Amino acid sequence: MKRNNYVVANWKMNGLTSFVKIFNAINKHLVSKKLNNPNVIVCPPYTLINTLVSSKKSKVMIGAQDTHELDSGAYTGCVSSEMINDLGAKYVIIGHSERRQLFGEDVELLSKKILSAHKHGLKVIFCIGELESEIKNRKSILMKQLKSLPKKLDHKKLIIAYEPVWAIGTGLTPTLLEIDSIHASIRDILKFNQSFAKNVSILYGGSVNAENANNILSLENVDGALVGGASLKPRDFSKIIDYFS
Ligand code: PEP
Repeated sequence: MKRNNYVVANWKMNGLTSFVKIFNAINKHLVSKKLNNPNVIVCPPYTLINTLVSSKKSKVMIGAQDTHELDSGAYTGCVSSEMINDLGAKYVIIGHSERRQLFGEDVELLSKKILSAHKHGLKVIFCIGELESEIKNRKSILMKQLKSLPKKLDHKKLIIAYEPVWAIGTGLTPTLLEIDSIHASIRDILKFNQSFAKNVSILYGGSVNAENANNILSLENVDGALVGGASLKPRDFSKIIDYFS
């Protein structure tokens, strides 16, 4: 079975109302080229979800960048999966390294967030990746991070994004050979006890840009990209999307 391809934009904390122009440009590109592959998902800040979801004739799907593990309550400033779903977004990024590092999110908390997202019908884009100081222990780090995932799951509810932390926003990437073999070993780790291992899409993220996307996205074990900085430049992001067409 052929796995689904995805190109996902993570806008992080960038997204004034004027950023709708960026979204419209990406959507126009998909519509004018009649592209059905890859699936394109834009994850703006919460504040723009409603506006982007309401965009007419959109071929771009919308996701959030994080969720709370509970449904509602006295948690000032937090947003739940139920609320994200209520806005019409279909995806949510969970476990991004910025959340793990800056907000101390651990395996147990992330596992609860995944359950909450699935309970409310959101598909999860689950990020894993090692720090530079952990490169030598990469496999055991990834194995530990993957423990947040449930054992049984419809593969359509999950996308995995391998993002080496040292590659995010730095212009650095692992070699192509390394990316391909790390992706293969992630699938092998999952195959031990996760039923969805064979069919789940595994994306690469970390300094993907219009220049390197072609090589990265042609790797056998790479099913797409999670893109930060370059996703705010519609021309570059469109070029990344085009590698699948
Ligand atoms: C990210 O933050 O998920 C990311 C991949 O960022 P960048 O593409 O800027 O490295």
